[in-house]
Amino acid sequence: MKKIHVATGRKYDILIGRGLLDNAGGLIRTVTKALRAVVVSDSNVAPLYAERVISSLKENGFETGLFVFPAGESSKRLSTVEKMYDRFFESDLTRTDIVVALGGGVTGDMAGFASATYLRGIDFVQIPTTLLAQVDSSVGGKTAVDLPSGKNLVGAFWQPSLVIIDPDTLLTLPEEFLRDGMGEVVKYGCIRSLPLFERLEGENAYDIIDEVIYDCVSIKRDVVEHDERDTGERAILNFGHTFGHALEKLHNYSGLTHGEAVAAGAAILTRIAERKGVTEKGTSDRLDALLKKYGLPTDSELALADILSATRGDKKSTGKGINFVFLDRIGSCFVKKIEISDMAAFFGN
Ligand code: MG
Repeated sequence: MKKIHVATGRKYDILIGRGLLDNAGGLIRTVTKALRAVVVSDSNVAPLYAERVISSLKENGFETGLFVFPAGESSKRLSTVEKMYDRFFESDLTRTDIVVALGGGVTGDMAGFASATYLRGIDFVQIPTTLLAQVDSSVGGKTAVDLPSGKNLVGAFWQPSLVIIDPDTLLTLPEEFLRDGMGEVVKYGCIRSLPLFERLEGENAYDIIDEVIYDCVSIKRDVVEHDERDTGERAILNFGHTFGHALEKLHNYSGLTHGEAVAAGAAILTRIAERKGVTEKGTSDRLDALLKKYGLPTDSELALADILSATRGDKKSTGKGINFVFLDRIGSCFVKKIEISDMAAFFGN
């Protein structure tokens, strides 16, 4: 088992190891004196893993409850959180009890938000079961739900008490979900780690996935420790996301996964940046080749003008400008604010 310590306002550990799921209760016992634990999971993950986690919790003296919601982004809304609160109440959760988020990004974001707000905040543990959640959304303390007007518009910063990553859970994952996570994995190599990028080029990431997860989480930990509330450095995690979010929106959040959208967004941006002399020559070809190796898109059939106009509505925009993350070269990046009025000229459209 590997351990990564995160020294944010609330300090916690991220544990990575095969088979940790069966000892989840024992590991959670080390961070809480809670009497009760409610496991939150979706209709895909609960049948696979909920029983194992619940029996481990029981063995470690927890009274347990379970809340299962229909899998999918469309569940990530306040009405689901309200049902979750009802289950917390029926399970007699008190301020000293704990919530266990077992699943992908939707589960973690929503259970985290419910934990941040129920009784003005109770502890929660993340057990991410998708690659995307393991390398990204379970780390950093961002929790949220969607509104009809946009994704993640209501939320809170709420750090977990513990994150338990069992890479064996990836064995049951359909390939498209692995690809989804690889979009973020490649991003980490691009923004911070040439060695990670080179390993992804030279080896099959799935053969060394434990180490890949460790590398990605370490990078995210470093960034988040410096900027817990997302006012500065954390922006670099958004590489590929500004165009990526626009692409997701233009696809009505279906047919293109988050990781695919981030991949295409990173590739399109880097191609233009290289042409403009912002990014070192040869970077774009190398990025495209790596994305293709993992079955990820490097372009979009949509017109750049449409992508740019969808980008203007991004929630990461500040004032009249939008912060874009550009690569100097593989492994190194910087943030540059581009005024809305300059965007068409800058991106050559
Ligand atoms: Mg992302």
